Order: sequence, then structure tokens, then C-alpha cells
Amino acid sequence: MSSPRLPRETRSSGLEPLAVLPVFVTLQGKRAVLAGANGGAAWKVKLLAAAGAQVEVYAPEPTDEMRAAPAEAVAGRIVLHERDWTPADLEGAAFAIAAHEDEGDCAAFVAAARRAGAIVNAIDRPHLCDVSFGAIVNRSPLVVGISTEGAAPVFGQTVRARIEAMLPSGFKAWVGAARDWRAAVSARYHAFAERRAFWERFTDRAFAEPDRAPVQADLDALMAETDAGPRGGSVVLVGAGPGDAELLTLKALRALRSADVILYDDLVAREILDYARREARTMLVGKTGHGPSCRQDDINALMVSLARSGKRVVRLKAGDPLVFGRAGEEIDACREAGIPVSVVPGVTAAQGAAASLGLSLTHRDAARRLQYVTGHDRRGALPEDLNWAALGDSSVTTVIYMPKRTLGALLDRAVAEGLPPATPALAVFNATRPEQVVVQGSAATLAARVAESGVEGPAIVMVGDAVGRGAQALIAEAVHRPEMTAEPIVLAGEG
Ligand code: SAH
Repeated sequence: MSSPRLPRETRSSGLEPLAVLPVFVTLQGKRAVLAGANGGAAWKVKLLAAAGAQVEVYAPEPTDEMRAAPAEAVAGRIVLHERDWTPADLEGAAFAIAAHEDEGDCAAFVAAARRAGAIVNAIDRPHLCDVSFGAIVNRSPLVVGISTEGAAPVFGQTVRARIEAMLPSGFKAWVGAARDWRAAVSARYHAFAERRAFWERFTDRAFAEPDRAPVQADLDALMAETDAGPRGGSVVLVGAGPGDAELLTLKALRALRSADVILYDDLVAREILDYARREARTMLVGKTGHGPSCRQDDINALMVSLARSGKRVVRLKAGDPLVFGRAGEEIDACREAGIPVSVVPGVTAAQGAAASLGLSLTHRDAARRLQYVTGHDRRGALPEDLNWAALGDSSVTTVIYMPKRTLGALLDRAVAEGLPPATPALAVFNATRPEQVVVQGSAATLAARVAESGVEGPAIVMVGDAVGRGAQALIAEAVHRPEMTAEPIVLAGEG
């Protein structure tokens, strides 16, 4: 038996290669020049003006839309010169856009603009550009820019629409208030930690009431709360689901976004940690069925001491925290220490697996009951006190968690208790993850097939007549999803 391991801090490696560097250009009151009159010109002129620029447009033959632009400027100013540009026009330009139809005209303008020290863009000519325009979500002063580096504009537009939907329009007022209040907050709180505490409270309030415009009373209340000292710590047990990050609940997402520290298990899919704040500490408190684990007492003590020091702790657990998750002990430890504790449910492995296979666990022609059991007792052996009569009944759908070490013994005993040997059974490995693999068999054959398959990863086993009802859907699915048909999936029909 290996010695228990200690909780350890984990860090994602941080940077990955960036296709482009997103930067935000301040154009308030600055001179911007656009030359030419191609199809994209009018929009770019308005965009530069919206960013507060003094826009000079040079086009001997402007389009009607360009002619109308000066009257439509929402900020900045637009002046249209119905003539060709000259090098003198570029003097003092901070930003320049080439909008000529002709490549040579564009190149000449771009060269002159660079000499004048401007940042340069040429519409539809990426090879001539210093910078490119992305899709924009505008909640000014909150601005989101999206780039696919020209690879997939439609994709970018769809991402933009998603982000639009995620950012309430009221954020405009909240971020505006932050700008207006910044000086007062900095004057009042000299310590970085205090300022940060204020802005965290401010942000929490904005997210809680995005559609209410912030008023002076909010500033006063937030300052009073900040003066009252550190916010008490808390613990939230959060279900991370079986792997697919899209199965996280909105509440889980919110808890991850506001956590100071995240204590997570080995079984939690790593991409789920990407939803945490970048500043959050992440700690692997590894508990797996096999291999070294952290002691439950160490995890409890760590959770309590972090929360006592004022941290918002998320205890992130695979699946649902309340299904074979030892959540009871963690909740008790928090309660005994007087720490506020709450639970955010997650999709348990059985539900994730059933959904991915289109398998009704309570098919009304086949199942009278649904039960979740564990293949392990405290010592890792087959639990003696399972309800063997229920396990011997094929009209019960049984889902076995932690099945691997004891599967053969468990199914043999169930058959001895009356379960027909031909009762359909499935093992689902890595449910809902890209590497999901299904091994199909019967109560009599599944254990041997699982052993033969050599598949690795967390698995659950499902047994019962209802499981057979899903088999057709499963096979169809497997045929249509190449990653599910690779060896060693065993999909032979069972008799
Ligand atoms: N709270 C978790 C269960 C934790 S016990 C839940 O609700 O799902 C750990 C066991 O869960 C594993 O041994 C395995 O049987 C099962 N499990 C967790 N994630 C799984 C996954 N993605 N695929 C298959 N089984 C999984």
C-alpha cells in the first residue's frame, strides 16, 4: 500500500502560442486617415469615428454611404475630401486605412502611412496590414474583440453572438461607474488587498444585478462593506460532471468564476479548470480509486483552514458531489468549524453515460427500479452488505460505480442470486469524454470482456433488461462516431 499523498498546488503552464496579439488602440481625439472608396470603406470610417478619432477621408469618388457618414458619426468627427490623398495628409496620423480597389494604390498609401508613423490596415489585404479588425462586442467602456485571424469570419460572428448574449447590456453602466469611481476608490484604499476587495465586491454586485444602473448609494454601501473587513470564507461543493465541460451547470460556472481556491480530484476533467478565474489557486487533492490518495482528513483540514482565512473555496468533485463523493464528511467538517457550506449538483457518471448512449435507465417495458451501487467498500473489497436480491433481479437497472476490481465477483454473485446470465450489461469508460469507450456483454461475459479490452480510465457498469433496450441506439451511435469505433470496443450482439 503506497503512502497517502499530500494536496499539491497545480498550475496550468499558462501561455500557449497566440495567432495574433490582441491589443486595444486608443483613438480619442487622434487623427485617422482613410483613403479609397472600396466596399468596406464606409463602415471603417464610422468605426474609427465611433472610437473618437478625427477621421479624414480622401476619395475622389466616394460612395453614397461615405457621403452620408459625416452626419452619422456617433463620436469623433468625419471630414470627407473628394480628392486623392497626398503625403502631407498623413502628417500626425495615428491610424491609417487603405481602401483602394487597386493593389498598387493600396501599397503606395500603406508605405506612406507607415513612414508617417501610423498604425496601418488595408481592407481585405491582410498582407499589407499591421493590424486587423475583429468582431466586436460593445459594452463600452467594456469592449470585447474577437479574431480568428481571418480563418473563419462566420465562426467569429457566431462567437460574437454568444458573447453578446452572455454580457448583459447593463454591464455598460457598471463598467462606466467603475471608471467614474476609480479615483475615489484608489484615494480611499491605499493597500492593494483592500482595493481588490472593493472591486471584487463591486463585480459581484454587477453580476448579481446587471440590469440595475449603479448609483451613488452602491458606492457608499460597497465601501462600507469593504471597511467592515474581510468577507468570511466559504466552501461550495461543486459537481464537475463526468467530463464534458458543457455539462457544467450555470451555478457551477458561477462558483468557479468566483472561487479563490479550487480543490479538485484526479477524476475532474482538466478543461473544467479553465473556467476558473486566472488568479484562482488550483490544488489537486487527488482521490482516485487506485494509487496514492490524499487522506480525507487532510482534505477536510485544508478546506476548513482556507475558508477560515477568508477564502472562497470550491471543492470540485467529479460527477455529482453527493453520489459516492464522501461529501457528507466534508460538509460535516465545515459545519463543525462554523463555515458556510453549500452544494452545487452535477451530472453524475451514470446520467452522463446514459445520455451519451441514448439509453433510458427506466425503460417502462424493462425496468421497475434504478439503483446505484459501489463495487468497493472502505477496504476496496466487494461490499458484503449489498442488497443481493435486488442485484439478482433483471428488471432493476443497476449502475455500478468503481466496478473494476470486483466486477467478476459481483456479477457472479448476482447470477448466483438469480440474475439471468444473459442479462445485458455495458461498461462505459470515460463517459462523455472524447475518449469514451463502451464494452458490451452480458452478466456472464462482461467482466472477461472488460479484462480483455485493456481499456483504461474511470468506468461504470450498467446491468439490467433496460440496458439491452439501448443497445441498438448504442450500435448506431458507435457506427456514426469514428472515435467510438476504434479498438477495443466490443459491440457484438449478445445472446
Ligand atoms: N461523484 C461521482 C462518482 C465518484 S466515485 C459521480 O457522481 O459520478 C468515482 C467513480 O465514478 C469512478 O470509479 C467511476 O466508476 C465513476 N466515474 C466518474 N466519472 C466517470 C466517467 N467520466 N466515466 C465513467 N465513470 C466515471
